Order: sequence, then structure tokens, then C-alpha cells
Amino acid sequence: MTAQVPAAGTPGQPVVAVVGGGVSGLAAAFLLRDAGVAVTVLEGSPRLGGKLAVSEVGGSQVDAGAEALLARRPEGTGLIDAVGLSGGLVRPGTTSAGIWTRGQIRPLPRRQFMGVPADLEDLAATGIVSVEGLARATEDLTQPAAAAAGDQSVTSRVGGRLGLEVVDRLVEPLLGGVYAGRCEDLSFEATLPALAQAARERKSMIAAAAALLPPAGGAPTPGAPAAVFTTLAAGLGSLPAALAARSGATVRTSAMVRELARTPAGWRLTVGSAHAPEALDADAVIIAVPARPAGRLLAQVSGGNVAATALAEIKYASMAIVTLAYPESAFTQPPAGSGFLVPAVDRRAVKAVTYSTNKWPHLRQSSPGLHIVRCSVGRLGEDAILQRDDGELAALAAADLGAATGVRGAPVDVRVTRWGGGLPQYSVGHLDRVATIRAGVSLLPGVAVCGAAYDGVGIPACIASARLAADQVLAYLETRAPAGAGRREMR
Ligand SMILES: Cc1cc2nc3c(=O)[nH]c(=O)nc-3n(C[C@H](O)[C@H](O)[C@H](O)COP(=O)(O)OP(=O)(O)OC[C@H]3O[C@@H](n4cnc5c(N)ncnc54)[C@H](O)[C@@H]3O)c2cc1C
Repeated sequence: MTAQVPAAGTPGQPVVAVVGGGVSGLAAAFLLRDAGVAVTVLEGSPRLGGKLAVSEVGGSQVDAGAEALLARRPEGTGLIDAVGLSGGLVRPGTTSAGIWTRGQIRPLPRRQFMGVPADLEDLAATGIVSVEGLARATEDLTQPAAAAAGDQSVTSRVGGRLGLEVVDRLVEPLLGGVYAGRCEDLSFEATLPALAQAARERKSMIAAAAALLPPAGGAPTPGAPAAVFTTLAAGLGSLPAALAARSGATVRTSAMVRELARTPAGWRLTVGSAHAPEALDADAVIIAVPARPAGRLLAQVSGGNVAATALAEIKYASMAIVTLAYPESAFTQPPAGSGFLVPAVDRRAVKAVTYSTNKWPHLRQSSPGLHIVRCSVGRLGEDAILQRDDGELAALAAADLGAATGVRGAPVDVRVTRWGGGLPQYSVGHLDRVATIRAGVSLLPGVAVCGAAYDGVGIPACIASARLAADQVLAYLETRAPAGAGRREMR
């Protein structure tokens, strides 16, 4: 028998169910806090936060998932401010990253946009690409304009102008840091929308990248935040609990939503295990889970198939974060900068390394005498490496770190965090797929979707999608409200 979950809120108050307690679902719940609706968040796992989580390594609370928040978009810092945590925001100690390729860690070119060079002399000085690679990149300046050909892969669009070496050694490591994906698969339009727009207006890709950067040697743009990234001193993983607490929502963990069905009045969600299911009736539903579970729920609803089919086409990459704490004495030379990226063509186990105690100086206070180093392992299609056990993964990461930096000896603390299906892939055709999903969902009254699968994987983009979903369900509930009973504006 299915037990009925008691409705939250006061009798007659519209009920909004939020499926998924990652940052997207919790942001949606928080944004609905003053809207006069009763919100219940249903998180399937025992822990809130999804890809946001902190764990202790070397005496510090460090992020095991997302660790850096883009400060140049307002949604992340704005939400942190609204939750009352802005006092915990900290600035990076350094943002100068390198690329480990062609035998050494080389500085990233200063003038590049997601690896697309804006200045070839600057690129040449780094030694990241060979003389031949540089000569091929120069052809961009003289080639005729590319013919319009719809969405293409990053390899096809950027490589077509600048050659494969620039893609393999520069663009792929930077995009790989965001999507753990492959440039021959990722959509140019979806992953680099600003560059795609700038490239439509210019013949040269180098000129398009330059147009997106502040002038060389010029003053910073007035009003722009001083640092590109920020984080919370307690870790970005501390945000979910604060959002949950201040949303005023009923928040349940270990509450997996297994079924979604229409009822005459709205929606019924079946929650929990097959032998002890519970039902929650809601007037509106925000689905804030990754593409696959979202598709599974929508496929059960008549009219939900179009969205479900497009959702099933979104692939996910799995990865692991190996966090290592070394005594300072293990490094003959203190690690410089914020870390380095590793091109897939160089076939190393690690794809990115962050010197966390350099990048976030507050960690030095909680871990005196230690360097905390965060290694990211695994890209789309590299699942074999992730089948190794934690000890082997940590040894592989430590071996690569030793080869790159000369660090010696065993770390004093290690933490391996696995993110199966961690990052959605914005493959060629992604923008059309998302348009199809949104059009399909719009046919289901009171249902909205949000999360990393749609308009950006970064936290600010997830929050923007949560705001859109919250606005959509409120607009729908408004249409059902009796005349004169308008709901309060969302803040
Ligand atoms: C290793 C890693 C590092 C990253 N680094 C950064 C970074 O530095 N900066 C940045 O901006 N972004 C980063 N990202 C991306 C960002 O963290 C994610 O895109 C974002 O947190 C996704 O949030 P979400 O709420 O959309 O999804 P999720 O975090 O995936 O949350 C979805 C939740 O839904 C739950 N769920 C699934 N199915 C059901 C169901 N049927 N019923 C109930 N609950 C369900 C899941 O358990 C999960 O908790 C990183 C991601 C990873 C994996």
C-alpha cells in the first residue's frame, strides 16, 4: 500500500515538489521561499548537495566536488548573499595556471579565451604548441571566412581555423576542465557561445577571441569583480545545507522519486522503495535531477515522451577527485601558481591538478605545513581508469604529480571521491536538444526542469536555470489562482 506524504504548508496553499536536492533544486526551493507556496524537496540520496560536497583532508574542509565559483556572473554570489553567507566568500591567492605538456609545466598564454589564442606571439612564448602547430595557427589570419554550417564540434570549428595542435594542447584541456569531455564531440555553439557569436561576426578565430578579452595592457572593465573566481571558506559544499535551512521548505533525503503521474488536480510523485512507497500530491513539480533520471520520470507521463527522448541523448562523463596532502618538505620547489591542466593527447592519468593551498590561502591556516593538492581523473570514454580501486587511483595521481613537479614521498592524507555520471556533455546539437526538451516540458502543466543538463554546467548557470523553473511554476500557479488571490512576488 502507498502511504500518503502529509502536505506541507497550510490547507489550500499550492504545493510545489522539487525533485533533486543538488544546488539547482535547493536554489529553486530557496527562490520560492516568499512566494506563498509550500515546497517539498525530495532528494534520493542520503546527502543533500549533489555535486557540491566537502570532506576533511589534512585537517582542512576541502571541496570534493565543485570548488570555484565564477564571480563574473551574478547568480552564484547573489544567491550566497541572499542566504547570508557572503561573509564567508574568499578570493583566490593566485589564478595563474599552467599546462603540463611537451615535457614541462608551461604557463597558459595570458591572452586566450578558453584556450583559443588571441595573440600568437604570446602563444609562441609559452612553448605549448610546436613550431609547426604555431605555423598552422597563423593560417587563421589569412584563410577565407568559414562557411556557415550549423552547429559543429569544437575540433571542427576551432581546429578548422587554427589546426588540431591548438585544440589538443590548449582548448581541450581547458574545456576538459569544465566538461571532462572531448572536443571532437562537444558543441562549439553550446560550450563556447560567446566565442561562437564573436566568430560569426569576424573572419579570424584569433580576432574573435581577442574581441572577448579586455584590451592588452588596458585597465580592467569598470564594475567587473577583481577576481574571476571565488569560493566559500567553509567550502562550496557548505552552501546546500544553508539553502535548505533558509528556504523554509520541507527537505527530505533518502527520498528517491520513482514515478510521476498526472492526477485530476495536478501531479502525484511516488517516493521511496518499491515495498514501502509513499505518495506526494503536488500542484507543480520542478525536476532538478540529471538528464537520465529526469527522462525516466517524464517518460511515464503522457505527453512527456518528446522531452524524455531528447533527455536520453545527453551523455555524461564520470570522474574522480583525488585529494592529497603533502608535507611542504616533499616539494623541492614549492608548487607555483594555482595548478595545471593536462592534454588528453599526453595520455596521463590526471587531467587537472589544483594546488588548493596556493589557490585558496585560507586552507593554509587549517593545514599548516601542508600542501593540499587536488587531482582530477577521468574524461568521457575513460571509464577503465575509474574501475581501479581508491589506492590505485591515488597512486596513479601521485605518480603523475611526481613526474610533473618532482614531489617525493607518500602523502600524509588522501581522499578519493568518485563522481559517476558527474558532468553532462554538451555534444553537437545540444542547443536544439534543450529547445526540444523545454518545448516538450511546456506541454505538461505545472512542470519545469532545471539543472546542469541544460544551459550551463557551472553553478551560476544552474542557479539561473533554477530561477527560470521557479518563475515558470509560479506563472502556472498564477493562472490557477482564484481571481484576486495573486501570489507574492519572488525576491
Ligand atoms: C568533480 C566536479 C567538479 C566541478 N567543479 C565545478 C566548479 O569548480 N565550479 C562550478 O561552477 N561547477 C563545477 N562543477 C559542476 C557543478 O558542480 C554541477 O554542474 C552542479 O553542482 C550540478 O547541480 P545540479 O543540482 O544541477 O545537479 P546535481 O548536483 O547532480 O544534483 C541532482 C540531485 O538529484 C538527486 N536525484 C537524482 N535522481 C533523483 C530522483 N529520482 N529522486 C530524487 N533525487 C534524485 C541526486 O542524488 C542529486 O543530489 C563540477 C562538477 C563536478 C562533478
